[in-house]
Amino acid sequence: MQVTMARQGLLIVFTGNGKGKTTAALGMALRAAGHGMRILILQFIKGSWRYGELNALERFPEIRIKPLGSGFTWKKDNLDEDRRLAHLGWQEAVEEMQRGTWDMIVLDELNIILSYGLLPLDTVLTALRSRPSDLHVVVTGRNAPAELIAVADLVTEMQLIRHPYHDQQLKAQQGIEF
Ligand code: ATP
Ligand code: MG
Repeated sequence: MQVTMARQGLLIVFTGNGKGKTTAALGMALRAAGHGMRILILQFIKGSWRYGELNALERFPEIRIKPLGSGFTWKKDNLDEDRRLAHLGWQEAVEEMQRGTWDMIVLDELNIILSYGLLPLDTVLTALRSRPSDLHVVVTGRNAPAELIAVADLVTEMQLIRHPYHDQQLKAQQGIEF
């Protein structure tokens, strides 16, 4: 019996305190690009990507990287401005999800935005639920909200066992950290 499989868009979450969340998402983007799929990577927090991956991903016409709000201040007395930027960024993410031109969208560090309460979780979950049914979405960042974990199809928690930054006060190594 031959089975024709329609693509089922998955909601994927990489969270936890161990290293490898963004790297895992980039690896998945790379794998998808190998199939000619079109991937959009949205950066919620400036500086979460390194020159290494930016230079490398430029070689793939299937992958587009777009930084969102870059002016987050994270100051307790200035959360309104952060919230405004988060909303603007999220608006853009929603437009891209609905556009229908992407096979996969990576929302890098969205969990951080959510855990700081800069975006209402309900709004985010509703938009994720109403995305095109064949669109894969990958969300990264520490402290993924329980409600997001509950509705995701694939969740991996990176567990910190050892990191040279803590254990050896080792400087960031090229190709590993940047
Ligand atoms: P990566 O981008 O290497 O996959 P990540 O996405 O899992 O890491 P983030 O929480 O986004 O990690 O952290 C951002 C930066 O902190 C990265 O440069 C990463 O290498 C570094 N980092 C990640 N985990 C740890 C850790 N447990 N201790 C110290 N630094 C870390
Ligand atoms: Mg990361």
